[in-house]
Amino acid sequence: MEVDLDRSLDVLVVGGGVSGLTAAWRLHSSGYLVLLCHGSERFGGAITTEQSDEFLCEGGPNSFQRTTNLDELIASLGIEDQRCDADARLPRYVWWEGRLRAIPFNVSQFLRSDLLSWGGKTRFMRELLVPRLDDVNREETVSEFIYRRCGEEIHSRLFEPLISGIFAGDIGQLSASATLGRAVAAETNYGSILRSLWLSRERVRAGTTFCTFKEGMETLTNALGSSLGSRLWCERTLISLERIQAGWRAVVSYRGDLITIHARSVLLATPAMAAAELLAPLDDALYRSLASIYSPPIAVISLGYQTTQIPQPLEGFGHLIPRGQGLRTLGSIWNCSLFPHRAPSGWRQFTTFIGGTTDTASAGLSDQELITLAHQELQSVLGIQGTYRCLRVTRWQQGIPQYALGHLAKQKRVELRLERWPGLFLCGNYFGGISIGDCVNNALKQSSAIQAFLASPQIFLSAVAE
Ligand SMILES: Cc1cc2nc3c(=O)[nH]c(=O)nc-3n(C[C@H](O)[C@H](O)[C@H](O)COP(=O)(O)OP(=O)(O)OC[C@H]3O[C@@H](n4cnc5c(N)ncnc54)[C@H](O)[C@@H]3O)c2cc1C
Repeated sequence: MEVDLDRSLDVLVVGGGVSGLTAAWRLHSSGYLVLLCHGSERFGGAITTEQSDEFLCEGGPNSFQRTTNLDELIASLGIEDQRCDADARLPRYVWWEGRLRAIPFNVSQFLRSDLLSWGGKTRFMRELLVPRLDDVNREETVSEFIYRRCGEEIHSRLFEPLISGIFAGDIGQLSASATLGRAVAAETNYGSILRSLWLSRERVRAGTTFCTFKEGMETLTNALGSSLGSRLWCERTLISLERIQAGWRAVVSYRGDLITIHARSVLLATPAMAAAELLAPLDDALYRSLASIYSPPIAVISLGYQTTQIPQPLEGFGHLIPRGQGLRTLGSIWNCSLFPHRAPSGWRQFTTFIGGTTDTASAGLSDQELITLAHQELQSVLGIQGTYRCLRVTRWQQGIPQYALGHLAKQKRVELRLERWPGLFLCGNYFGGISIGDCVNNALKQSSAIQAFLASPQIFLSAVAE
C-alpha cells in the first residue's frame, strides 16, 4: 500500500535502526498510519551483517541476550526458527599478566579461579558485609561503586575490562546507577550484590544465553523492515521539524529534493547527536542535554584463520583485555566456538574491537593499521601462527553512548522538557540501555506512549480546531 501524504500521518518515525523499526512495526501493526524515514540506503543502523566469501561477518552487534519482549517480537515476525543460541556454558576470558584466565561464573569456578588471588576472593566474599552508601544522594562512578563494594581485584581484573569491552567506556567516568542499574538496585534492596545474586540465581541463569540468527543479526531488522513494506522510506533524511497546530511539519531530503510531511506525532529514533541537531532550532535545553551525550569511536575488525594456524582448540565466548596489560585491543569474540556456522569448514573467525573512550586516538589509524594491530594481538594472546585473511573492517565514528555521571538526571530533564512539545517523542540507545533488548523495550514503551497521546482528547480537539 502506498503511503498517502495528502492525509496527515499518525506517526512519523525517524531513524531505521532497531529502535525506530520496532516502534514503527508496533504502531503499524496496531493500525496507525505510520511512515519511517531512514537517512541511508541500508536500514538497520548499528546492526549490519555482511557475507564475505563464505564468512558471515557482523560489523556491529554480534549477538543479543533474550528478553521477554525480544522473544515476543521474534515470534511475531515469524523468525523464531532462524534464531541460534550459543552454548551458555562457554567460558569468557580475561588477559591478565600474560595469560588468559577464565571469568568464574559459579562458586566452584570462583574458588578455583586463577584470575583472582585468595586475598581478592576473600575481599569479594566480604561484599556481603559492606554497608550501603551513607549518602543516598551521592552518585558514584562504576569505578567507585565496584571498588567500594567488591575490592580492587574485582574492579581491575573483571569490571574494568568488562566496561571497556561492552560499553567501550571508561570505568572511572560512567555512572554506576545508569550503567549497572541492577547491581546498584541490589545494594539498595538487598544490602549486597552477592545476596541478591544468590536470591535471584534462577533468573540470572535464564537471562545469560547469547543468540544470533543463522543468517546474521540483520535477520531481525530485515524482518522488521519487510513488515513495514512501503511505509519504510530509505535515503530520506529528516532535515527540519516544526510544530504546527495539529501536529508537526517535517522536511526530509531525498536525492536533492525536499519532501514536506505532516504528522500528528513524531518519534525521533536517531542517535543522540542527530536528535540534538534536529531539535536545536526548537529547544536549546533539549539540544544541550542530548548533545552532551558522548559516543566514542570504535572499530570492529573481522579476521579469518585456518584451523591449523591455531595451536589449541579454542572453546569460549572470547577474551577481554584490561587497560594497562600492554595490549591495545579491547578484546575479541571467538566466533569460531560461539557461532561456528559463521566460517567455512577448516576456518576460524575472530572479531576484534579497538577504540572507545580510553583510546579515541585509534580513530586516526588507517584500516591497514587496525588490521595489523588486531592480528598481532590475536597472535600474542592466542598464539596464532602465520598470516590472516581480512574479512571486514567497520568503523563507527560515534559508537556507543556513554552513560556518564548525571545521566539519569539528564534523562529526567529531557523527559520533563518534552512535555512542552506535545506529540514529540524520543527513543534510542542513549537512554534506557544500549543492548538490543533494551532498545526494543524502550521502543515498545515509546510506542505505547504515542498510542496514548493519539487517543487523548487533546489531539482530537486540536484536529477539530484545524
Ligand atoms: C560496535 C558495536 C557493537 C555492539 N555490540 C552489541 C552486542 O553484541 N549486543 C547488543 O545487544 N548490543 C550491541 N551493541 C549496541 C546496539 O547494537 C545498539 O545500541 C543498537 O543497535 C542501537 O539501535 P538504535 O536504533 O537505537 O540506533 P542506530 O542503530 O544508531 O539507528 C539510528 C539510525 O538513525 C539514522 N538517522 C540519523 N539521523 C537521521 C535523520 N536525520 N533522518 C533519518 N535517519 C537518521 C542513522 O543513520 C541510524 O542508522 C553494539 C553497538 C556497536 C556500535
